Amino acid sequence: MKLYKINEIFYSLQGEGFRIGSANIFCRFAGCNLDCWYCDTEFDYFRELSLADIRKEFAQYDCKNIILTGGEPLQQVDDEFIEYFKSWGFYLCVETNGTIKAPEGLDYICVSPKVKDKQIIHLWKDRKINELRYVLSNKMPLPHPMLSADNYFISPMNNEDSLNDVNVDYCIKLIKENPTWRLSSQIHKVWKIR
Ligand code: SF4
Repeated sequence: MKLYKINEIFYSLQGEGFRIGSANIFCRFAGCNLDCWYCDTEFDYFRELSLADIRKEFAQYDCKNIILTGGEPLQQVDDEFIEYFKSWGFYLCVETNGTIKAPEGLDYICVSPKVKDKQIIHLWKDRKINELRYVLSNKMPLPHPMLSADNYFISPMNNEDSLNDVNVDYCIKLIKENPTWRLSSQIHKVWKIR
């Protein structure tokens, strides 16, 4: 029986991007293939769970929206995982750094690139990306994406538990100058929810 390394499963509101404010069950996979210096996510701890174990935890909540996150969820999310949860009627969103080819069948894909677009563009040819979200800190230049998506966001790099006002102000200024972009500012840190 295949087991997945799961860091945590919890129920909350999406605090970022296009689906902001919606209720979701977050399934955080352990491990990441990158090591970004600013990463504030704890993803080393894990429990090994089967598909049925994971579904049992999902069933605690009256919600069918799932956000597969990490770490890097696409290190583990595979066809079997997607087929299983789709057959139970779940809506599967993934938040990925974009460095691993996504299996078919996901309902919503958010790519937040942490490497140069040219290093990952071959993985996303002919794939629909619903949302591209770039993390920026003060004075970092506006990205010029090679990937195409339905929606483009910049997200200020924040403190672990609060917004970073300097970075937020900088991103607001950039968006006013470049109105095709939208702000995604980890509003769950203002709502004080995880
Ligand atoms: S890709 Fe995301 S989860 Fe992985 S190290 Fe970078 S910021 Fe952390």
